[in-house]
Amino acid sequence: MEKNPVESTSCIFCKIASHEVETKIIFEDDLVVAFKAQNQIAPVHILVVPRKHYTNLNGLTQADEATYGRIVRVASELAAQKKIEDGWQLFVRVGKGGGQEVMHVHFHLVSGQHV
Ligand code: 5GP
Ligand code: ZN
Repeated sequence: MEKNPVESTSCIFCKIASHEVETKIIFEDDLVVAFKAQNQIAPVHILVVPRKHYTNLNGLTQADEATYGRIVRVASELAAQKKIEDGWQLFVRVGKGGGQEVMHVHFHLVSGQHV
């Protein structure tokens, strides 16, 4: 499988990142986009995704560190904004066997309920 295929015209998160599909964006910069998950599994449930299309977290290289460092920092800042520093989770599913349904990397920022 190709590690990072070019942005797919059928990838919903690429479409959200490029504003092709209208979604309320919570945060975005050159590397990262954050928006609410469609199916909320907790009172706070935000997806933090790389702007660039990555199918999953396999095969990352040093060149990807800035993007993934930024994702964790954005999650931390959103947690502060939402005043949930007391308790939140940040997790990512990798591959079908890991429960990943959307094949564009996304970190779940969840709070208010253990999942
Ligand atoms: P996964 O199981 O791949 O880790 O999670 C997929 C996530 O993507 C779920 O939280 C689901 O609600 C979210 N999701 C799937 N399609 C859309 C969409 O079109 N818009 C938004 N905002 N979230 C989506
Ligand atoms: Zn994509």
